[in-house]
Amino acid sequence: MTGSILIVDDLATNRIILKVKLNAACHDTLQAATGAEALALARSAQPKLILLDMILPDISGIEVCRRLRANPETQHIPVVIITASGDRASRLRALEAGADEFLTKPLNEVILLARIRSLLRARETEAELRLRSETWGELDLADGETVFAMPGRVALVAADPAIAIGWRAALAPHLKERLVILTPNAALGEMPEGAVPDFYMIAGDLGGYGSGQRLLADLRSRASSRHAAIALVLHEANPESAAMALDVGASDLLTLPLDPQETALRIALHVQRKRRADALRRAVNMGLRLAVTDSLTGLYNRRYALAHLDRIAARARETGRRYAVMVLDLDHFKSVNDTFGHGAGDAVLEAVAARLRDNLRPSDLVARIGGEEFLVALPDATLGSARIAAERLCRVIREEPVPLPDGSGSVSVTISVGLAMGPGLTPEPPEGWSRDSLARADAALMAAKSDGRDQVTISSAA
Ligand code: GH3
Ligand code: MG
Ligand code: MG
Repeated sequence: MTGSILIVDDLATNRIILKVKLNAACHDTLQAATGAEALALARSAQPKLILLDMILPDISGIEVCRRLRANPETQHIPVVIITASGDRASRLRALEAGADEFLTKPLNEVILLARIRSLLRARETEAELRLRSETWGELDLADGETVFAMPGRVALVAADPAIAIGWRAALAPHLKERLVILTPNAALGEMPEGAVPDFYMIAGDLGGYGSGQRLLADLRSRASSRHAAIALVLHEANPESAAMALDVGASDLLTLPLDPQETALRIALHVQRKRRADALRRAVNMGLRLAVTDSLTGLYNRRYALAHLDRIAARARETGRRYAVMVLDLDHFKSVNDTFGHGAGDAVLEAVAARLRDNLRPSDLVARIGGEEFLVALPDATLGSARIAAERLCRVIREEPVPLPDGSGSVSVTISVGLAMGPGLTPEPPEGWSRDSLARADAALMAAKSDGRDQVTISSAA
């Protein structure tokens, strides 16, 4: 991880103590003695995290935090506010100002370093998602605004339901999120997609189930709850076990007795952050999908198809089983456009794509690699099975005319197919050999066209 940790404290001795501890844990550091200096450095140096003393000579630490959050250049930097007095009012104000954490002096070094690790991990994930979604040019948080306005889902998990009921009663007045009580087993059960909690609040001791930490690890290992925020509720914590909980993936630690208002504030912040990450993740996935598919037919595009064909070829080399490559081209497609219009042509392309997909196995590759040209690759194929598949594709296109979009009738179309086999085990596979099988399939297609179309031609090298 690049970047430094910015230490903000008006007392040089405090700064030096922290610097020594952080350097020993392999973090580079920067220092600021005033709030104004801290704000300027945060903008120019972009530290990876800020340790911020609550009381500064010019602006209060709380105000510094608020200004960091208000500036788009600094709003993503995690902030830990540090203070000599652990009074409740300042803790609440720090969290309200957008601080990620609030620690009281004297600092416990084990906890401090574990908190820093956990905050940096969360920041790294978000930064990575942000970068990728921007790369894909798909970042659209506008619809995120409505997502954030909806209440989040918070699961309360304790061994004794009476405890969770008590939590709910205490938190409900301070939270707009929906609070649900779950047993440990229910928390791990299947849930419909929209019902998976954004935040889990888990008792440290879950009786017969085991420790809260074990449930935390189980939730982190499942796809549906991997990205949720998870807090453990601990008795006045032993620093070692608290640090351990953070290191195995706790997003936060809550200590008993719970302060309802502070707990609610923390939950709301975690829910918000988790949803922002969800929105980014969706944008990334959408971007990835758009980058590899063809928007008219929904089939994979040429770029994806060529990369996937290389993977099929590499696997064939390992297993020794051969694969088949087909190039399929619509016959006299230009005349469909000329006679019925471009819209009808598009409808034909969509119908042909659907029929190809419906008549192949899910493990086969189907892609649109040109205007009216498709690629099909069959892993683990023999010449016999591939030829039967190719004949079948020709037949399902030929046999049923495609309805015209304006309802005025239908149009009969046919395809020509060139088929080539990829080699199985070859002692010295030549460079770009999967592309070679594609070139041979292309040549076979030419032959199918000149032999009268609506037929399968097999590359002689097969
Ligand atoms: P052949 O049997 O030799 O393949 O003849 P053809 O008419 O199918 O081949 P040609 O390459 O001459 O014409 C292909 C036509 O496909 C020309 C082009 O307008 C049309 N085409 C390519 N992409 C699209 C598309 O996305 N939508 C529509 N409607 N037509 C397309
Ligand atoms: Mg054609
Ligand atoms: Mg063509």
